[in-house]
Amino acid sequence: MAAAGAWDTLVVGGGAAGIMAAIHSSARGRRTALLEGNAQLGRKVLIAGNGRCNLSNRDAGNLAHYHTPQPRLVRQVLGAYPLQRTLDFFAGLGLELKEEKRGRLFPVSDQAQAVVDLLEEHLRELGVEVCLGAKIRRAACEGAGFVVRAEDGRRWEGRKLVLASGGVSAAKMGADGSGQELARCFGHELTPLQPGLVPLVSPDEYLRPAQGVKVWAQVRAPLGRGRWAADTDDLLFTPYGLSGFTILNLSARVVPMLAHGPQVLEINLFPGSAPEAMGQFLKERWDRHPRRSLAFSFTGLLHARLVGPLLARLGMPGGQVVAQVSKAQRWELAKLLTCWPVQVSQARDFDHAEVTIGGVGASEVDPASLESRRVPGLHLAGEILDVHGDLGGYNLQWAWSSGAVAGAGG
Ligand SMILES: Cc1cc2nc3c(=O)[nH]c(=O)nc-3n(C[C@H](O)[C@H](O)[C@H](O)COP(=O)(O)OP(=O)(O)OC[C@H]3O[C@@H](n4cnc5c(N)ncnc54)[C@H](O)[C@@H]3O)c2cc1C
Repeated sequence: MAAAGAWDTLVVGGGAAGIMAAIHSSARGRRTALLEGNAQLGRKVLIAGNGRCNLSNRDAGNLAHYHTPQPRLVRQVLGAYPLQRTLDFFAGLGLELKEEKRGRLFPVSDQAQAVVDLLEEHLRELGVEVCLGAKIRRAACEGAGFVVRAEDGRRWEGRKLVLASGGVSAAKMGADGSGQELARCFGHELTPLQPGLVPLVSPDEYLRPAQGVKVWAQVRAPLGRGRWAADTDDLLFTPYGLSGFTILNLSARVVPMLAHGPQVLEINLFPGSAPEAMGQFLKERWDRHPRRSLAFSFTGLLHARLVGPLLARLGMPGGQVVAQVSKAQRWELAKLLTCWPVQVSQARDFDHAEVTIGGVGASEVDPASLESRRVPGLHLAGEILDVHGDLGGYNLQWAWSSGAVAGAGG
């Protein structure tokens, strides 16, 4: 079965990056076909931000939020299609946005579906041919362009090909690694793929009774050579280890470090407090109620299910009265409350990850157009490239910007 005619642009992948590529190709008057393996477009957009779609961030222009061996690539792409252009684009579609904590931008309707509906309407207005259920298994250069074939036998020819097939996280949403295979067929090399924005597994068994507890905390993660990353937000204790905003966000930088072995995170349950001040605070608290047991002395200060693990970590009996707690013990407790070392040994798997770390080497594309340096006419966009962002809308911003640049380029 053959699709009629040859296209100016074929886009493989109907996620955020592919949709933007198709829109920006078509807006330049090019006949464009968007080929998506799923039965619907934008499945990851629909689940983003728990169905509310955190589609960008007020701080999206800050390059510190993006991680890649080629920062120049991100600088150039975000320079060409910055946050303001993205905001203007969505405003033009009729999408009203609101800002939430940490600069995160959401539709005011709180519905990711609205984002996809408006993008689909725009694709229709521009005359983009949307082909669903088109899982592309083969792609090759032929003549002056490309031929791609879906697993059901459909075939398309195009002068330019944009590969926007995503990473390999949350495979049930459609990103199953077939896009990475296509990139390899064109001779591209991929850096190792790892789960990113992902909960972390801790081997520290004494933590298990705290599972389900969520606290506000500062978490610090070592980055090597004396450098640290820190985040202050929710921290969730789970049956396997740690999750919550702090952990997911820091995982973008912790997961690559785990390749060198287990890492020790430091948790401050009283962000901004140093051990000295915490020691003094405990002394005054205990002076007011000297007959209380050590375990009960934290009631009203700490979540009850954290007390057992903390005392277990120091091997202190919870039954002793606080008047008998030595100065040295108080100091150990003060240090633990403000600088609690917790070991993490691995990330959870790709099914639990929001993004993929690694991908097609960022040096393999021209930053101005995202055209492959190996195959003229082939462009790459979105999460298939070795770029990942922090939690908070940065990954979708990368998808919008890189998709627009790849679609417009060439
Ligand atoms: C649970 C979850 C929540 C998230 N929340 C947010 C958030 O709130 N904010 C944020 O910024 N980021 C969020 N992300 C990350 C963000 O969704 C992705 O980084 C972004 O969607 C990547 O866009 P993409 O177009 O590059 O890839 P994808 O969205 O993965 O799109 C790739 C598309 O290509 C299709 N495809 C793959 N292979 C083929 C093939 N061989 N043939 C045809 N089609 C193919 C897939 O079906 C898919 O539709 C979240 C991710 C997850 C998993």
